[in-house]
Amino acid sequence: MDKQFKPFEQPIYVTRPILPPLEQVLRKIEDIWESKWLTNLGEQHSELEKQLKKYLKVNCISLFNNGTTALIVAIRALGLTGEVITTPFTFPATVNALEWNGVKPVFCDITPHNLNIDPNRIEGLITPKTTGILAVHTFGNPSDVEKIQYIADKYRLKVIYDSAHAFGTELNNKGIGNFGDASMFSFHATKLFHTAEGGALTFSDSAVMKKVNLMKNFGIKNENEILITGINGKMNEIQAGLGLVLLDYIEDERNKRSALKKIYTEKFSDISGIDVLCKNDDVTKESLQYFVVKINKEKFGKSRDYIYNELKSYNIFTRKYFCPLCSNYPHYKDLRSASISNLSVANQIENEVLCLPFYGELNKTEIDKISDIIISFKT
Ligand SMILES: *Cc1c(COP(=O)(O)O)cnc(C)c1O
Repeated sequence: MDKQFKPFEQPIYVTRPILPPLEQVLRKIEDIWESKWLTNLGEQHSELEKQLKKYLKVNCISLFNNGTTALIVAIRALGLTGEVITTPFTFPATVNALEWNGVKPVFCDITPHNLNIDPNRIEGLITPKTTGILAVHTFGNPSDVEKIQYIADKYRLKVIYDSAHAFGTELNNKGIGNFGDASMFSFHATKLFHTAEGGALTFSDSAVMKKVNLMKNFGIKNENEILITGINGKMNEIQAGLGLVLLDYIEDERNKRSALKKIYTEKFSDISGIDVLCKNDDVTKESLQYFVVKINKEKFGKSRDYIYNELKSYNIFTRKYFCPLCSNYPHYKDLRSASISNLSVANQIENEVLCLPFYGELNKTEIDKISDIIISFKT
């Protein structure tokens, strides 16, 4: 078949990690070498905590070796047991973190407009065993934090947010990490801000932070006192040093992505069957971690899967986040709340969402071409 467009010569991936100039990273590593202090809450670690508190506009933060461990520790530190209400439309880590704590996930359907847990369906899932709500700010769009807190207060539930997509998101100028009892951020290489692997918890209450800090360091208070069953969740100095160098490049990356998002959005603005996932009106700063479209097969004439597969032949690699849904994994599908009738929106959405290539190194010509190729599939 003759193609209207030539495939890209180099593969275009859905994202690329921010890589600061290597000399700067090496200089940082020299500092760490000189200090002879590679982990255990050293200088880089405390400086990164300080900088991130400022960037995320939060009062309490605790750094971790990765986001998943952070989430597992948050669930345990907050004493969640029994059942926790969560979303099926997320990365496996969210739901797995509950299972690692012996907590049964109860899946709640999502809303079609922002793909977050549907607050109007939470109360119907609460039982005497429910102890918390674990919601995700999907693709950086905040969950309905007010309604969720209202329900949590009414039933005395704890609230944890998986904010892995929401680094830098602000809701009415407030940092997203200030809501609920704890929020988890991931600093994995594929996220906007990263430390290769890494993560953090933020809290509204410093008492929870103190417990978490103990818990991520084996439960060790001092040489003579080990107080609780801890784990090793510490971020090391090399991770923290990389994060410190990288933090200076975030605003530049965000500006570039913001410009790219405009180009994509304009390209798709009058294409029937392609809906760009928009930010909520009350979001005063968006994370810009992903660029997400929803494909309506009836209107566009081709399915999301068709586009995903066909793009590969142009050397373009998109992502079908989050397909399959967690509720359709073999180890969760037999839960009562995993039934398709309980999760009708999520089961439809999982076939419509596509994350397109989105990172600052891409230029206008490339975004134009990717968009034009997708539009050329329309029938
Ligand atoms: C990336 C991600 C995680 C896991 O974070 P890690 O730092 O890779 O452990 C959890 N939840 C969501 C929604 C994510 O996207």
